[in-house]
Amino acid sequence: MMPLLEVEDLRVAYGKIEAVKGISFNVEAGQVVTLIGTNGAGKTTTLRTLSGLLKPLAGKIVFNGEPLNGVGAHKIVAMGLAHSPEGRRIFPRLTIEENLQLGAFLRKDTPGIQQDINRAYELFPILGERRRQAAGTLSGGEQQMLAMGRALMSRPKLLMLDEPSMGLSPIMMQKIMETITELKSQGTTILLVEQNAQAALSLADHGHVMEIGTIALSGTGQELLHDESVRKAYLGED
Ligand code: ATP
Repeated sequence: MMPLLEVEDLRVAYGKIEAVKGISFNVEAGQVVTLIGTNGAGKTTTLRTLSGLLKPLAGKIVFNGEPLNGVGAHKIVAMGLAHSPEGRRIFPRLTIEENLQLGAFLRKDTPGIQQDINRAYELFPILGERRRQAAGTLSGGEQQMLAMGRALMSRPKLLMLDEPSMGLSPIMMQKIMETITELKSQGTTILLVEQNAQAALSLADHGHVMEIGTIALSGTGQELLHDESVRKAYLGED
């Protein structure tokens, strides 16, 4: 079967600085795939390129059988690729419900949109309880839930999450990871960027370790979780 996402020899630069230096990986439908690695490894750059926010220098991106090279960011969302960005980027002055509605900005099926808003409230009850509050009043973890809920509002075939655990308490982080597992069990395909390697590898089908713009190591989540070099470099073992 054809993978949902194929990335081949992708290179991305900021001016003369090459942040992504020729990476290749696939995401199969129904899988959770994670990119782990330290600050500056090129993970965010990779997601922003897949979303059409950055133009690659070279390489091939094929999503659901269609090339993404040269396709605009809005069209990419319409094709089914949604991005929950690093730092969440919610709209603090808008209510929670308005933030969710913005995630459906390309859709016109009002009843379907309302259904999906209700689904987001089932997934994250706290968002439902606070639906009329300004989103800026939410805690960091709750804002992360809102960012994930908003990305889901486009009914994506592939959901990309950039560091959903960033800045969260251990309990909140666990809740976010449980939600990712739940989304996977509902059939959502996820590309997860994380610095928390332990959490990400524990739930991922496949993982790739990024180091200064390249993929240094790939394997199943379990293989990487038990790999000695990964344990030393990313899981704080010596
Ligand atoms: P982090 O977890 O810190 O976000 P990352 O793996 O996502 O790390 P990127 O944000 O993709 O890494 O950054 C990769 C490299 O590109 C870094 O060296 C970074 O300094 C550089 N970089 C990122 N954004 C820009 C930019 N707008 N202009 C110039 N260089 C940038």
